[in-house]
Amino acid sequence: MTVTDTCPACLTPAIAPVAARARGPHIVHGYRCPHCRHQWATARLATAYPARDYHQDAA
Ligand SMILES: [Zn+2]
Repeated sequence: MTVTDTCPACLTPAIAPVAARARGPHIVHGYRCPHCRHQWATARLATAYPARDYHQDAA
């Protein structure tokens, strides 16, 4: 699954992430625009991904 985003600075579409990390229930993708070199990150819910053995109980 490829998750692309649009540059918020120059609006270049379909930019692929350069980094991805899990952060609690979210997956954070880091992006760097090849045109204007703007950098940003987008967090997505991990439940959108098929990770069946990922369970957390808040005690
Ligand atoms: Zn840009």
